[in-house]
Amino acid sequence: MALKITDECINCDVCEPACPNQAISMGEEIYQINPDRCTECIGHFDEPQCQVLCPVSCIPQDPDRPETVELFSCIPQDPDRPETVELLWAKFISLQSDKSS
Ligand code: SF4
Ligand code: SF4
Repeated sequence: MALKITDECINCDVCEPACPNQAISMGEEIYQINPDRCTECIGHFDEPQCQVLCPVSCIPQDPDRPETVELFSCIPQDPDRPETVELLWAKFISLQSDKSS
């Protein structure tokens, strides 16, 4: 599944250079992810680098608001792009062959 940047993005510029697939770019107001290029970092890293680095996901949980960590991340999975691990690997292989041609 590709990931998606929500409007909680603070335009800190951290995620764009960290993406191994050049899937992140500045949109009209906030950064955006090209779902055709996002592999959740499969083949490059064990974890999605943008999620790991995004400072907005580091907001501590409020004990009075028992919500999941996922809700605090501004880069959740994009529900409109449900992809299996097999499809993410296929996208990775396709992107690698694009690079070599
Ligand atoms: Fe790029 Fe990885 Fe984030 Fe997808 S999960 S946008 S491939 S850094
Ligand atoms: Fe926005 Fe998070 Fe990327 Fe920073 S790391 S630009 S807050 S999505």
